[in-house]
Amino acid sequence: MTATGLAPAVMDHAGRLAALQRAFGTHGVDAFVVTNLLNVRYLSGFSGSNGVLVVTAEDARLVTDGRYREQAAIELDEAGVAGLLELTIESLDFDGALAAAVAGRARVGLEATTITWAAQRRYAARFVGSDLVPLTNVVELLRAVKDAGEIERIERAAEIADAALVQTIGRLHGRPTERDFALTLEAAMRRMGADGPSFDTIVASGPNGARPHARPSARRIERGDLVVLDFGAKLGGYHSDMTRTVCVGPPSAQQRRLFEVVLAAHETARAGVRAGVATKEIDALARGVIGEAGWAEQFDHGTGHGIGLAVHEYPILSRATPGTLERDYVVTIEPGVYLPGLGGVRVEDTVVVGESGCRSLTLFPKALEV
Ligand code: ZN
Ligand code: ZN
Repeated sequence: MTATGLAPAVMDHAGRLAALQRAFGTHGVDAFVVTNLLNVRYLSGFSGSNGVLVVTAEDARLVTDGRYREQAAIELDEAGVAGLLELTIESLDFDGALAAAVAGRARVGLEATTITWAAQRRYAARFVGSDLVPLTNVVELLRAVKDAGEIERIERAAEIADAALVQTIGRLHGRPTERDFALTLEAAMRRMGADGPSFDTIVASGPNGARPHARPSARRIERGDLVVLDFGAKLGGYHSDMTRTVCVGPPSAQQRRLFEVVLAAHETARAGVRAGVATKEIDALARGVIGEAGWAEQFDHGTGHGIGLAVHEYPILSRATPGTLERDYVVTIEPGVYLPGLGGVRVEDTVVVGESGCRSLTLFPKALEV
């Protein structure tokens, strides 16, 4: 843990580029065109809104436009890849610059899940003599394993979110609307140094809690309400994600039962998290506890997801998605139960996967009553 304000640990962008190049043989390509902007950022440090990274076995080139001339040079330098990555500023014939970068490469990989149909057709016309190879999860699989600099950024983001909730939670007793409380929480995170919220903060009180992704409304939070708070902070491109469900004042027996079942599901799933375990197994652990309580149908989403440069990224911890946890994956554990008309409970932590267990980055206490 590092105090906020110190320079964060360096991230190994050069190592990431080399890892991508080493994977070319597996994927059967001799060049790879990175169009997903998060993947571009991961590999090069460039965070602008328009940039394509062309990586070949020997070199790499970032193509962006004139708006980013200065920013791109600075970010590549800060990422330590200025010597490894050619920078091309091209405001007129962008595709021509990409074509020049892949010239002579027989098999050019494209990111099938993010490239548009229009771009694929343009590249097919311009990349003369190259076969286009659709690939999925190439950089995403590299991104799943976080380096020390990434874990530190997520941990700091989580610390900010924790501290913001400590500072604001007492205001739930003042009958704020859901929107007011969401705004208060987001403002607190920004004041504490967050670049912004990880995503639109969820504040779902009373019956609104039965909708897992409810939008904050004008409903006033009343004594006796369960309130689902799902939020996180964004810092240096990285995200935290945490859900706490609290009762404003003493809970009813039913509210307590709901909370205890979901908390048990969360803790059971979390206790199973370690390197080598299938993501489906973690999901099954949470689902088993909730199923035994008779609420199997009321838990209708996955148990968690990878988190980093994206809020939701590989791996997905669900019944339907294959995957195996590895050391230094950062994932969420977030079972929930939702009872229409009554409300819902979800409990979520962001954790780092280790060899024999996991470490939570989100530390706000899981007490029901506030
Ligand atoms: Zn969340
Ligand atoms: Zn989440």
